[in-house]
Parts: sequence; C-alpha cells; structure tokens
Amino acid sequence: MKSRFQIVFISTGVHQMKKLGLLGGTSWHSSMDYYRLLNKKVQQRLGGVHSADLILRSVNFEPFHQFQVNQQWDLIAEYFAKDALHMQSMGAEGIVICANTMHRVADSVASQVDIPVLHIADAIAKLAQKKQWRSLGVLGTIFTMEQEFYRSALEQRELKMITPESEARQHINRVIFKELVKGQVLENSRRLYLTEIVKLSEQGADAVILGCTEIGMLVEQSMTQVPLIDSLQCHVDYLTEWMLTN
Ligand code: GLU
Repeated sequence: MKSRFQIVFISTGVHQMKKLGLLGGTSWHSSMDYYRLLNKKVQQRLGGVHSADLILRSVNFEPFHQFQVNQQWDLIAEYFAKDALHMQSMGAEGIVICANTMHRVADSVASQVDIPVLHIADAIAKLAQKKQWRSLGVLGTIFTMEQEFYRSALEQRELKMITPESEARQHINRVIFKELVKGQVLENSRRLYLTEIVKLSEQGADAVILGCTEIGMLVEQSMTQVPLIDSLQCHVDYLTEWMLTN
C-alpha cells in the first residue's frame, strides 16, 4: 500500500512542493486571498490539477484585535507560536503570518518553532532590490506605521521607511479597522489613500507599500502613477517560489 502511494506522489511531482502553515484570520478577507492566490499560482506553475499544499489556521480576529489595542503582543505571540507548533507537527515546513501587523510577533514565533517563518519584509525586499527601490512609503495600521518592528525589519534589509503625517496615519488606520477588515470598500477612503500615496512619493518614496493585507481591496496599481508594492501579492509570489524550489 505504502509503495503505491509513493509512486503516485512521484509521478505527480507532489514531493517537490513544500507544505506551508498559514496563520490567518487577521482578517479573513485577506486570508482568503492568500489561500486563493497561493493555489492559483501553484496551479499556473505546475499545471494539471495541482494546488498548494497548505494548512490554514484562521483565528477569531476580535480577541486578537483587543490584544493589539491593549499592547498585549506577548499573548498574540503565545497563541501564534502554539498554532505554529501544531502546524509543524502536521508537517508544515514553513510558517506564514498572513498580515503585516502580526509580524510584530514574527521573531518570537520563529524562536519557538524549528521551521522558518517566511517574513513579509523578505518578500518586499526581494522585489525592491529587483526594482532598485531604496525608499519606501508605508500605508498600514497604526501599529505597522508607528511601532519599531516594521521600520527595523525594512532597515535590516537596507530599505528606508517613510510614513504619512500623524493625522493621516489615524485616518488610514481607521479605514482599515472600521471598513476594510469588515470587507467594506468606500470611495472616500480610496481617495484618501490615493492622496497619501502621492504625498509619500513627493516626500521621496520610490514606491509605496500597501502594508496591510486588505489595502489591495481598495487601491490597485492602475489607479496611480506611483509604483505600488501590494504586500499580500508580493508575499504570495515569494511563498510560491519558496514552496516550489528545492
Ligand atoms: N491584515 C492587516 C495587516 O496586514 C491588518 C489587520 C491586523 O491588524 O492584523 O496588517
């Protein structure tokens, strides 16, 4: 019985794909896009009826958002590490945090598992290097724009981070938590984001990171002349490459 399965695996090339464990639910709108796009890209690359080898853990966002607001990042790290270990025991070979903000706990999660956490900043840095971009504007949650973790993740990869002014940061954050994570896409908010993108470019940004995995629902490259890095799409490209090589 065992040898028959081995033959099937080898003939379909399944053995060549690494299994990913996705930490999602923050929010489920973007987790759905990770799931859909990873499957789509693997299918495009391998053909046939290939699809991505994934484990998806999708949390209830509300308590996790309260932990964010209360700065209880240690609790988030604890829950995420527990889930990552569980996925590791199910055969995951890499862990993916399906959000920018939750990368606040990426180092802590990485230190508690034996498999790599495939960092969103590595994906961004790979694209930026290819395009020779050095200064990047960032739109994201208040945590991503104001706390040290995102800036230092970019700086460690030799990228400079530029953020909007204080009042604009509040508006951008409000749109994420009051609209986008609930799946609401409003024209006024789109206008606000597009205006801030232009301002970041005027301040010297070579490109602007849509540094929240829901912003792609609101803004896309066709709407502006300023080069954009959609963090979700960029992460998915990086992950697909990682799954399918070596
Ligand atoms: N998905 C978002 C991000 O990429 C925001 C939700 C969250 O706070 O995790 O940052």
